[in-house]
Amino acid sequence: MMSELRDCVSQLRSKATSRTPRQFLLPKDNRGFAKKVSDYYGELTFDFKATDDISDAVKKEILKALDEGRGIKKEHAEAVAKAVTDWAVNNGATHFCHWFQPLTGGTAEKHDAFFQFNKQGKPMEKLSAGQLMQGEPDASSFPNGGSRSTFEARGYTTWDLSSPMFLIEGTNGRTLCIPTAFVSYNGDALDVKTPLLRSISKLNVAATKFLNLVGHTETTSVQVTCGAEQEYFLIDKAFYFARPDLVMTGRTLFGALTTRNQQLEDHYFGLIPDRILAFMQELDYELHRLGIPAKTRHNEVAPAQFELAPIFSEANVAADNNQMIMTTLKRVAEKHDMMVLLHEKPFAGINGSGKHVNWSMCDNTGLNLLEPGTEPQHNLRFLATIAIIVDALHRHANPLRMAISGAGNDHRLGANEAPPSIISAYLGDTLDKIFHAITEDKTFSPNLNNVIDLGTNQLAHLLRDNTDRNRTSPFAFTGNKFEFRAVGSSQAIGFPMTILNAAVTDTMLEANSYLEEQLAKGASVDAALMSLIKKIMSHSFQAVFNGDGYSKEWVAEAQRRGLPNQRTTPESLKTMTDPGSYQFLVNLGIFKREEIDTRYNILLERYIKIREIELETMIDMIHQFVIPSGLEYKKVLAKIIKNQTSIGISSQFEMEAYKKVTAKIDEIHVLSQNLVKELNADHSDHQKYAEKIAQELMLVSTTMAVICNDLEELIPNQFYNLPKYYDMLFLR
Ligand code: ADP
Ligand code: MG
Repeated sequence: MMSELRDCVSQLRSKATSRTPRQFLLPKDNRGFAKKVSDYYGELTFDFKATDDISDAVKKEILKALDEGRGIKKEHAEAVAKAVTDWAVNNGATHFCHWFQPLTGGTAEKHDAFFQFNKQGKPMEKLSAGQLMQGEPDASSFPNGGSRSTFEARGYTTWDLSSPMFLIEGTNGRTLCIPTAFVSYNGDALDVKTPLLRSISKLNVAATKFLNLVGHTETTSVQVTCGAEQEYFLIDKAFYFARPDLVMTGRTLFGALTTRNQQLEDHYFGLIPDRILAFMQELDYELHRLGIPAKTRHNEVAPAQFELAPIFSEANVAADNNQMIMTTLKRVAEKHDMMVLLHEKPFAGINGSGKHVNWSMCDNTGLNLLEPGTEPQHNLRFLATIAIIVDALHRHANPLRMAISGAGNDHRLGANEAPPSIISAYLGDTLDKIFHAITEDKTFSPNLNNVIDLGTNQLAHLLRDNTDRNRTSPFAFTGNKFEFRAVGSSQAIGFPMTILNAAVTDTMLEANSYLEEQLAKGASVDAALMSLIKKIMSHSFQAVFNGDGYSKEWVAEAQRRGLPNQRTTPESLKTMTDPGSYQFLVNLGIFKREEIDTRYNILLERYIKIREIELETMIDMIHQFVIPSGLEYKKVLAKIIKNQTSIGISSQFEMEAYKKVTAKIDEIHVLSQNLVKELNADHSDHQKYAEKIAQELMLVSTTMAVICNDLEELIPNQFYNLPKYYDMLFLR
């Protein structure tokens, strides 16, 4: 048995190292040349604006409805349904599905055939307006956090016409995916998209008013823009399936560090290995066909870690796209005999993965609210926008922290290699100085001439030159956008964006009232903006931190400043039981009270389940793999010791090794027995149990991991029957 397993790992090694990069052939154009991206970009998406099968009048009506955020007429839906059916069926689709984001973090789809009988009983392909607009999946198995009783376990999916429909390809056919929202029988949002759409429209109203107030009279709407950089690990498929922890939990629960990992920083932006590049090329091709604007690809800091970034787009589309990116990453990787790890911390001791959510606002005239302007009054508008966002971060730090919580991200936030769990903003030196000047009353002249010349387009230049990046901040200003870096790599970005949009809406509405008051009193726009900036920054400046977010000093300093530091998920989820923290979400109409309760229950439950699975998997692996490997080694040692004793030779090394392995096995056995007891105990208070897991059981599991790693280092390779970090991170 043991020798088979032993063979097994070495066989895996030869398998992984003997693979060749997978070739895939780009389709050719009619001259026989490989097609250009622009030839096939979006070929798997249906854009009602571009099709000839819908009349211009109808398109205009639909666009108007979209713009005004209301539903479309049934006859217009019928026109779209007919056009999309023709398109999808002609492109090989047999089924359609409502594609939605339940609160599991992933996506869900229920397929339904286009095929049906017409009135004469003849088979045909059809999607009715009703089927396009609303679906009713049997939703009883989706997490509902107690918001539905089983007898009315109905949920409804409703078409989100602001996000394009697309085809997904299986080996033997295609399916049309219709992006939808997912709500319960009584209209409560059971998904990520619904509140996101609400938050986008609330921010639209607040930001439009803000721009109108400060003189941008041509502004009629403001969009939230988002570009989410996605980090991920790639490992050979052979190793993945030989590590039950990866399969069950998405991360390695233990594993000794290799001598070289990321100290030399040689992987970052390094030459992309052939096999990986082949994967990335096919990935980009698939994403482009889906109309996802993949733009950059590169190696990340840790070995076997990579990143992909799309060109930014409207936030709701970007959120859908990010879900599709995660799915496509997995699908394409498997074709290349690799597995993608989206977990925030697949390997202890080396960098984890995040999702840098680049975020800004853009109005209908193309004005980016976070782009410093070329004229003084625009600069003040820009500075006020920054101040409003900082205010949002300061005031709503707890909900923002809650929105990025999760078992996976707990390993990353504050682990001295990722943004800390303290919510703060990085603005860079230039902005810092300007805001200091303003708050400290160093000037009262509206153009700040005697401090920094804002009268020309110098600020834009200054900021452009000031793009020094601070990797340690959870929320960094990067020239013309903010980068929310604390978001985890596996998370649906819709939720953190919802809270961010909501937080900014809240402080922006307040700023609007203040501006209105000042203007009514006869103040000029410049004077009103200046006074607003001063007022906000005098109390919210403390949420700005430009130093090293990884340092211990910052933790102490943040505490002095009164900034919250919620280290674990259970702690931060309590925000959803504290009306003082979440009331603004309800007041703004972004979440109902019940929807907050729902999310609290689901996320807490999820945290507990994930941790239980991890702990149980760990115990299992210790008994299935680690201890047996140790015993196998001991057997050999015992034989040597016995033989040597019989011929009168001492066995100093062998004895020591034998004793060490024995002691470690005993130690880990006791710990795992205690852990089993803990897991089997009664846990009726979920909040308390979750906190116990986070504060106590996770410490035990860390201790156990250390012992496993010690054993891994003591036991010779030939007896150790699990792929090691060396294999997973370096062999391909
Ligand atoms: P870097 O972070 O290295 O500066 P980029 O400037 O390419 O890289 O930006 C990273 C991401 O930010 C990309 O996805 C990009 O499309 C996105 N981005 C750029 N401008 C905006 C914006 N105004 N709003 C939202 N995202 C943006
Ligand atoms: Mg970036």
